[in-house]
Amino acid sequence: MFTIDQFEPLIEMEKDMLFHVLKGTLLPTDHTAYKTVQNVITQILKENANAPNVRQRKWRISVVESEQQNAFVMPTGHIFVFSGILEIAKNENQLAVVLGHELSHALLDHVVELHSLQFCTEVGALAFVTWLWSVLASKWVAFFATVLMYKAIKVAFILPRHRLLEREADTVGLNLTAKACFDVRENSVFWTRMQLLGAISDKAREHHVGDTARTILSYLSTHPSHEERANLLNAATPKVLAYLHTVLVRSSIKAQDKNINYLNDSFRL
Ligand SMILES: [Zn+2]
Repeated sequence: MFTIDQFEPLIEMEKDMLFHVLKGTLLPTDHTAYKTVQNVITQILKENANAPNVRQRKWRISVVESEQQNAFVMPTGHIFVFSGILEIAKNENQLAVVLGHELSHALLDHVVELHSLQFCTEVGALAFVTWLWSVLASKWVAFFATVLMYKAIKVAFILPRHRLLEREADTVGLNLTAKACFDVRENSVFWTRMQLLGAISDKAREHHVGDTARTILSYLSTHPSHEERANLLNAATPKVLAYLHTVLVRSSIKAQDKNINYLNDSFRL
C-alpha cells in the first residue's frame, strides 16, 4: 500500500534526530569496534550486491558507544550498531547473525509493510467503532467494547505479522550471511546463547515463568522466542549449507546466477 519513497522524508527526519541525540557517542571510523562492524557489513553487502535492493540503497554505518545490545537498519540504508552488541556476539559470525537479520528488515521494507497494515486495520476499526457507538445505548459499554476491540486487533493481526516478519528476517539473514561465507551454524548458537542469558537473568531476578504463562506471552510478543528462533535456524541451516556447497563447488557465473535466484526465492516464506 505505502511505498518506501513516501516514507523517505520522515525517515530522514528521524535519522537527523537520532544523530542529534547520539552526538558525542559515535565511534570514529578507525575504532576497533567500528572496523569489526564495517568488515561484517561490507562482506555481507559485497557478496549480495547482485540483489537489486542491495544496490539501490546508500549504505552508511554509525557505531554508537553504548551498553545497549542492539542494532537496527533504517529502511533507507543507514545502519546503527550499539557497541554493547559486541559483548553478546562473540565473533564475526555471530555479529553477522544480528546484522544479516537487521539488513533483511531494511531490504524487505518491513517498516513500510507494518505501517500499511497498521493503517488498514485502524481505518477498518474506526468505521466499526463509529457504528458501535451509534448502536450501543451505554457509552461505558461502547468504551469497553472499543478498548477490547483494539486489543483483539493487536493480538489477532498486528503481533502475528510482527512475528512472521521477524522469522522472515531471520531466514533471509541466514541466506545473506551464507552467501557472504559466514559460518551460518553460529545462528542457532547465538540464539541459544541469548535464550540461556535470558534464563540466567530471569533466575537472578527470580522471574520464573511457567509453561502456560510462556505460551500466553508468546502470543503477546512482537518477536518469536529465542528458542523458537534457534530451532527455525537450526532447521534451515542444512539447506543453506547445501547451497553454500553448490557455490563453492560450482563457482562459475552460471552457478552464481542460479544462487541469486535461490536467494530471491527465499525472500518470502
Ligand atoms: Zn528483527
